[in-house]
Amino acid sequence: MRTNTTGNIIRTFLILLSGLVAVWVVWSFFIDSSPATPVDPIYLDASYANDARVADLLSYMTLEEKIGQMALVEKNSIQRIGDVRSYGIGAVLSGFGGKPEDNSIEGWRDMVTEFITESKQSRLGIPILYGVDAIHGHSNVPGMTVFPHAIGLGASGDADLVKRVAQATKEQLVNTGVNWSYSPTYDMPQDIRWGRVYETFSDDPELVSELGASYIEGLQEGEDDSSGIEVLATPKHFIGAGSMLWDTSSNENFKIDQGTTAVDAQDLYAQHLPPFQEAVDTGALSIMVGLNSWGQTKLAAESYLITDVLKGELGFSGFTVSDWYGVYEVTDNDYVSAVTAINAGIDMVMLPFDYKPFIKNVKKAVTRGEISQERIDDAVTRILRAKFAAGLFVGEQVSDVVTVVVDAHRGLAREAVAKSAVLLKNTDSTLPISLRPGSILVAGSAADNVGMQAGAWTLEWQGVDGNWIPNSTSILEGLKEVVGTGTTVTFEENGYFEESQTKAALGIAVVGEKPYAEGWGDNASPSLSAQDMETINRLREVSEKVVVVLVTGRPLIITEELQNWDALVVAWLPGGEGGGVADVLFGNTPFTASLPLPWPASVSQLPISADGASHDGSAVLFPRYFGL
Ligand code: BGC
Repeated sequence: MRTNTTGNIIRTFLILLSGLVAVWVVWSFFIDSSPATPVDPIYLDASYANDARVADLLSYMTLEEKIGQMALVEKNSIQRIGDVRSYGIGAVLSGFGGKPEDNSIEGWRDMVTEFITESKQSRLGIPILYGVDAIHGHSNVPGMTVFPHAIGLGASGDADLVKRVAQATKEQLVNTGVNWSYSPTYDMPQDIRWGRVYETFSDDPELVSELGASYIEGLQEGEDDSSGIEVLATPKHFIGAGSMLWDTSSNENFKIDQGTTAVDAQDLYAQHLPPFQEAVDTGALSIMVGLNSWGQTKLAAESYLITDVLKGELGFSGFTVSDWYGVYEVTDNDYVSAVTAINAGIDMVMLPFDYKPFIKNVKKAVTRGEISQERIDDAVTRILRAKFAAGLFVGEQVSDVVTVVVDAHRGLAREAVAKSAVLLKNTDSTLPISLRPGSILVAGSAADNVGMQAGAWTLEWQGVDGNWIPNSTSILEGLKEVVGTGTTVTFEENGYFEESQTKAALGIAVVGEKPYAEGWGDNASPSLSAQDMETINRLREVSEKVVVVLVTGRPLIITEELQNWDALVVAWLPGGEGGGVADVLFGNTPFTASLPLPWPASVSQLPISADGASHDGSAVLFPRYFGL
């Protein structure tokens, strides 16, 4: 009896065990086949075509490794040294201001190199992409030249200039080991109350197509045709963010940013899509999907626009990356959000925080059949295609020597500043200042403030207020340098100049906006501060003529004030080289720029449609492309 019972127990145990083994075998075969060791893998052989290398590499990857490639993690969220390697993370980013402890060019190189080296030690040695927002130079890094924000480059209308700025930006990035930039911006703003107007080139799709393509070429193209992509560009944001409506933001702190794009498919095709077609044709291999909604649907869940239109109709063969936490804005449930976004066509998810639950959830979704293996393979194929095109697998990514040519870049930045300043009013040829007057008075909050010139996305996400940016020149310093001998420049920030018998021949007021980024810059009525207006009025009392220079990320409502000014120049957010403003004021460089978007006379004219018509039908103050 006893023997029989024991035998039964053993038999049952063996049946159970073999059942478990069978389940495990089937499970691992279909879902997570144990890692196949590559023998003589062709993916490491640069003589093969990239598509063959991608397919080869994919064939060795486990499901976890594939999902790891789809994760983009903020560098401060990496919980443990070794996680990039062991989870096979696809990409790491520095959210703006995500700096190394040693916040220098060398410190950045060390930090980025360390992450890349770690990724190359993963089982299959797949290098990460390291991403930053180099939207006006690699302005995260102290000491790098800060170029004008895109709105100024749009005003220049100069595709060759844009390409050279992008090339310089690439040099800066390469010197810190960064191989991926979240630029250029393709949004086309129709409402100046939005806090991201200055990140854009224009509201004109044709200009955005042209300048965007030049930027992509400048950033991506290597020294010669054979060297492939040097730094991967990322046109953003797909799609329609420039047409978001006021008071529709899904973020309780904002008004328009992250809001609703209320245009129909026809307008979307006509206005917002053409630049993306051009970007795809130019060779963009990563495109960022925005935080806005189209109707009720967050863009990250818009399968028609991402999969059918972008990947299908436009023929985009690269990968889509979602914006900061954007996938989790899709629903309240993290699992459902990730599944919905990936099925909609998001290939890489800017998590940017918790990668472990993401990997777990996506794996669960695949085992349940809620995300297909094919969708995962497609996403990873697209990511790897970009990585091979960027030459990440061959040679050393980080060169040994810091070769950033600061002086050359500063010269280029100064040229860009002069070429982006728009002359909007010039009574009696006040400008250029040709006859050097004996005395020039300078006033205003932005006259001696490189932080204001540079705007946000400079050293910190929200920018810095004051002269904290190394290797830079304020507009005041530029004026002093250019004015030459025989003329004195007197500066009084708030315009409290000493009384004198005679008025100065000329007063220059440099006023404008304090730095802001994203929704924090949403503003119901963008205009000059009371303090700036008082400064201008005080300056007027002691000067024969007053020139106003606006340092601003967007057109400001100045309809009433304008009549009291003799000349008006918009410098936009010129960045680190204030000397460029002095160059045009003194006529060393002629004014050639024009408005890249219409300048409204009042807030009731907003939004202004793509064809330049204001909301209330009244005439705007200056139309698009106006400039004296
Ligand atoms: C912005 C993106 C940016 C990303 C990474 C987001 O908040 O919308 O434009 O690329 O952050 O810094």
